[in-house]
Amino acid sequence: MAKTDWIIDGHQDIAFESLVNRRDYTLPIAKIRALESSRIDNQATLSWDAYQKGNIRLIFSTIFIEPQSHGCPPFAAGTHYATKQQFHEGVEHQLSFYRHYQNDYPDKFRLIATQEQLDEFLRDKEDHPDDGLIGLVLLLEGCEGLRSFDDICIYSEAGIRIIGPVWEGGRWCGGTFSGTADRLTAEGRTLLRHLAAAKQILDISHMNSLSAMDSLESYQGIVIASHANCRALLANPPNERQLDDLTIKRLIERDGVIGVIPFNEFLDSSWQSRNPREQVTLRELSNHIDHICQLAGDANHVAIGSDLDGGFGFPNIPLEMNDVGDLRLMEHILQQKGYHQDEITAVFHGNWLRILKKGLPSWKK
Ligand SMILES: [Zn+2]
Repeated sequence: MAKTDWIIDGHQDIAFESLVNRRDYTLPIAKIRALESSRIDNQATLSWDAYQKGNIRLIFSTIFIEPQSHGCPPFAAGTHYATKQQFHEGVEHQLSFYRHYQNDYPDKFRLIATQEQLDEFLRDKEDHPDDGLIGLVLLLEGCEGLRSFDDICIYSEAGIRIIGPVWEGGRWCGGTFSGTADRLTAEGRTLLRHLAAAKQILDISHMNSLSAMDSLESYQGIVIASHANCRALLANPPNERQLDDLTIKRLIERDGVIGVIPFNEFLDSSWQSRNPREQVTLRELSNHIDHICQLAGDANHVAIGSDLDGGFGFPNIPLEMNDVGDLRLMEHILQQKGYHQDEITAVFHGNWLRILKKGLPSWKK
């Protein structure tokens, strides 16, 4: 079978999941699952062999430090925080995790933080298509524990290129766990100015509607939603975690890109864990892709941001999927929906690549 078009995945919590669940994603997926056989309701879906199966070659890999109030003990080092200092130590810990990953597996993972590194990676990918090397661009998911704005410079120098300010919500703006009336705060506006000065790509995922609109109006730099679906396609959504149409339209006007998530609960809000898997299929994921394309009038503003293993795994994903590699099946499903190959290429990697080409800094500048 010919390889499908290559994929950029806009969101995976590789460090958090490796540290909290002690998963070694360089092992085959069957082995990872065998090592945690008691976890029948949230099995691993990421692994190096699954990346190869799906031709997934570049990932926005996150640094995520969960507020201790949301997590369940025992906490692994560098994954949870109760104080701002612990948040900072968590960021440093996960940065060091990725540096070790690159050093320990140089033939498997390579960090990408500049335009030149992206060019070199793309050249190598072209010259050695079967090597399977995976590029990692670092994304800080939530910085509500930030010690001071000076840390934005420290994190930028360390290679973080995408920052999503919010996860739970409250300090900078409204988030998934705060009220729908919350908007960007005065401190939040200051944060956005610092992020723009550091030329960070802004990730509005997890913002409530009003905060997303405030941010889209005021942010001077590049804006994306690394992992979010369309609220308009969900009946009775429990919160504002998914994007409403107005936010999607504003993102499109800003030439932004939205990464859609193959999580059953985010595709069908009536679906619950342990419901039959056949109730949700990849066709639902293609509906979210199509909805964004219809709002845009083209296929230039939607991509994949799987978030796989970030709080959900197998069997909480669409029927056709065993692991992340099965995202490749979207090629055929989009073809059936009438999408041309160049549009599928845009969704699979072209749109994220455009964001990286615009957003990564160059050594030369
Ligand atoms: Zn998230």
